[in-house]
This record gives sequence, C-alpha cells and structure tokens, in this order.
Amino acid sequence: MNLELDRDGVDGLGRRALDFVADYLDRLPAEPTLNDADASGLVHGLLAAPPEKPGDLDTLLAAVAEAGTYGLNTASGGYLAYFPAGGLTSSAVGELIAQTLNRFTGFAALAPGLVAMEQSVIRWLCGEFGLPAGSGGLVMTGGSMATLPAVVAARDSRVPGDVGRAVVYVGEHAHYCIAKSAHIAGIAAGQIRTVPSTQDMRMDVAAAARMIAADRAAGLQPLMLVGTAGATSTGLVDPLDEIGKLAGREDLWFHVDGAYGAAYQLTDRGRALLTGIERADSIVLDPHKSMFMPYGTGMLLVRDEAILRTAHAVGGDYLQDIGEAPALPDYATLGPELTREWRGLRLWLPLHLHGVAAFRDALDEKIDLAAWVHKELSQVPTLELPWEPDLTVVGFRLRHGDSAANQALLERINASRRVFLSSTQVGGRYTLRMCPQSLRTHAPEVEAAVDIIRGACA
Ligand SMILES: *Cc1c(COP(=O)(O)O)cnc(C)c1O
Repeated sequence: MNLELDRDGVDGLGRRALDFVADYLDRLPAEPTLNDADASGLVHGLLAAPPEKPGDLDTLLAAVAEAGTYGLNTASGGYLAYFPAGGLTSSAVGELIAQTLNRFTGFAALAPGLVAMEQSVIRWLCGEFGLPAGSGGLVMTGGSMATLPAVVAARDSRVPGDVGRAVVYVGEHAHYCIAKSAHIAGIAAGQIRTVPSTQDMRMDVAAAARMIAADRAAGLQPLMLVGTAGATSTGLVDPLDEIGKLAGREDLWFHVDGAYGAAYQLTDRGRALLTGIERADSIVLDPHKSMFMPYGTGMLLVRDEAILRTAHAVGGDYLQDIGEAPALPDYATLGPELTREWRGLRLWLPLHLHGVAAFRDALDEKIDLAAWVHKELSQVPTLELPWEPDLTVVGFRLRHGDSAANQALLERINASRRVFLSSTQVGGRYTLRMCPQSLRTHAPEVEAAVDIIRGACA
C-alpha cells in the first residue's frame, strides 16, 4: 500500500475522521464525565504491536472511540477539576492543517509566513500584558515546558557562572514546575525559598523582602522572585504589583506564573486583578487551560527577547545554509527545541475565526459562574468556603469534618459520574475545589453540579 494518499484517499479518510469528530461532539453531553470501569482487558488488547497488513479504518476508529470512553473525560462540560479547557474544535482542525503542511518553524526564513502568524499571537499577547518593544516569546507544549527557558534566561542573565549561591523565591501556593525547572537548570531544592502567605492566602511581600535581605547578608545571590497569577490550589492571585516592585528594587528576575490565570487579562476584572504583570521579566500562560485550546499549548512571554536568545542560541555547522527572515525571530534560538512543529495555527485560527471578543466573553462567563457557585455553596449550612474566588476556583469543605469526611464527600459527588471535582490541601486542611472553566461548562452544568453537591452534603 502506498503511504501517500491520493485525492480519493484523502477524501475518504478525512470525511470519516470529521464524521468521527462530529459524532463524538454530538454524544459528548450525554457521556459520563468519569468512567472508572476496569480497563485492564482493553489495555491488554491495545498494547498489541501494529500488524504487517493494512487495517480497516472503521474498525480502527471504533477502537479509538471505545478506548476514549475510559477514564476521566477532560473534554466534558462536567469536568470541573484542576483547570479545565475543553479543547476548541477549531484549534483541532487548525492542527490537522498545520500538521499536513508540516513545515519546519525553528528558523523563520524557512517558513516566514507561517512564523509570522505564530509571532502575531505572541506580539498581541505581549501587548495585552503591557510588555515593551523588544519583548517576545515562544509557544511550547505546556506551562512546565515554558517555565524552563524562563528560568534558564533568568539564571544566565542574573547569575552568570556558578549558580551554587543563587536563590529563587516562590509563594506557598506556587506550582512545583518552578522548582522542577530550577532543578533542571542546576539550582538545587535547597536554593528555593518558600515565602509564607498573609491571612488572605497570597504571598507576604514584606516577608519576601526580609528573606531576600537575610540571604544577601549571608552571602547568597537572590536571583528570581516568582508571583503566581492564579494559584493551582486556590486560583488566588498574588499581589503582583508589590512583588514586581520588590523584584525591581532588589534587581531580581520577576517571573509571573500565569499558567492558569494570566489569560484573564483579556477581561476587565482579570486585568484589574493582574495589575503589576506589566513589570514581569517573564510570564507563563497556558492556552490549553484558560484559552480553551486542546492540550499541548503553553506559552512563554519575555520582556527582553534578546536575553532569551543569549541563553539559548547555539550554532551548528549543518545549519550554515539557513538565512535570516526580517523582523521575525528564529524560535530554535530562543528555547531548547530545534525541530518544532508549527504551533501557531492552533492559536491563530481560533482567534481569527471566533474573534477575541468571543474569548473575552467566555472568560467573563466563567468568572460569573464561579461567583454564582460560591454564592450558592455559601448557603449550604454544613459547608465552609475558605476564600472568595478571584477568578474561577471555588474551594469548600465540611465545617465540621476531618480529611476522611471531606474525602468521602468528594467521592459522593464524583460518584454521580456527571461531574468531576478534585481536592487539595489549604492551610493543612483537606479542601474540595471546583473550577467551572471548560468552554463546555455553562449555567446548566454548574446548576447540576451545585445540586449534586447539595445532595452529597445532605
Ligand atoms: C498547570 C499549571 C502549571 C503547569 O502547566 P502544565 O501545562 O501542566 O505543564 C504551572 N503553573 C500553574 C499555576 C499551573 O496551574
């Protein structure tokens, strides 16, 4: 069989694939959010090696459909755990086209038009965050991956040479990807300081200032101060303006981890909350969280693209034929990747097709949904809600109940199979959390979720 498809072959495969997508989206609202049935038989069969002979497409697609019914359905509107996005179909279709073009985007001169489309999204977001001329960034595969080049750039620009005395400061609710990136970048766990929180569960900036001063007095080299724009457990935003000012005074690299929360900058309420983000040296945001994109899309924005390039650019003899494209960066010189897929279209197509207002309205809707859930759950007498949501994370727990009782509550809620919530530890206490952020989560889904929670509390 020829590996390249002819026109009829593309039509046949494409039509059936798009039918598969449309059928799936039709079925999705009625599908359970969680299917924890035993998958061991299925898994065993699917671990088989591929056959020598061609297979039948319908049989193969049926296998995909069945395999997809197991586990946690993160595309469902009832998925309210961690940070839901849902996954825009327009982005997935963009991906089909991008992967068919299959162009090399590590160097702009090889695909200037396609790189310009990707760069337009980066430039637009730099503008939204108030970063100056000379800013830039990278589209990576997720927030963790996007954090690594930020830490490397911070390290190289602030502490060239031996990093043994460098210190990184994060808040109590910071995501572990900072420590993980620091570890990969040669900064040990003992060089990460956890700044305590104030009563309102955000970074205590005065405490950070004292810790920095103490470290300097001890002969250490404070390197990087990290503010979280929407903590993973609580969704709460650190006082970025104060943190940015402190970083400026102390000449520390100011990194904002906005993997979850930064995209809310598109809304008026989010922008007010994120004041100070314009001071950042680097910002991470995850379009596969709060821009509703399918998994595999995280972004790094930096105030000074040149610093990112200094930290990552290396040459190779085999690259001597590649020229430069005017006004466009070579992504291969800004981060760890050389060969990279064209990640631009998965963002560019939905943004241009739906328009930015559609994203802004959807994010506003999610903030409203979370506020409504908070109000409703506040009226359940057996529950306490430890914080008022900044954005879209609602936390709650039994007023009189230990971890086991709260865990049992979560299990009763998720046993509905229609909604799925997760839990975390806040102030040493087991706390349930709900994040109505999927593009498929609207008023009916959160009303159903609140009914299920009320029932599980009764
Ligand atoms: C999800 C998250 C990350 C990690 O991003 P991935 O895309 O999962 O790698 C980092 N920081 C915060 C605040 C997050 O919520």
